[in-house]
Amino acid sequence: MTKEKELLYYVFILIMIMILFLLGVDILATLLLKQGVILGIIIASSLILFIISCLIALKIEVEIGYYECSKCHHKFKTTYLKALLAMHIGTTRYLKCPKCQKNNWSKKVFEK
Ligand SMILES: [Zn+2]
Repeated sequence: MTKEKELLYYVFILIMIMILFLLGVDILATLLLKQGVILGIIIASSLILFIISCLIALKIEVEIGYYECSKCHHKFKTTYLKALLAMHIGTTRYLKCPKCQKNNWSKKVFEK
């Protein structure tokens, strides 16, 4: 496993732990509080925390490695915004290749 791949793997684990923790907090708060403004605040803030952690994870994903065009095998970097808006399955994203200009499912690779 390359260092970059390892790093991305840890980010993935961290996100999973975060989801389980926030879900736990929400379930616990729902059981204890039943209803009310505080419960709303807890659920809303955990949702915001979850979104922020996903955005940070994406930042790390975009920074490390490259995306490989499935048509011409050109390896390229993309912008944060393009990665954010692109459909994805795991780290494989539907991006436009800068070389052949075709939209395709580009796989995450770690070496140029
Ligand atoms: Zn291409």
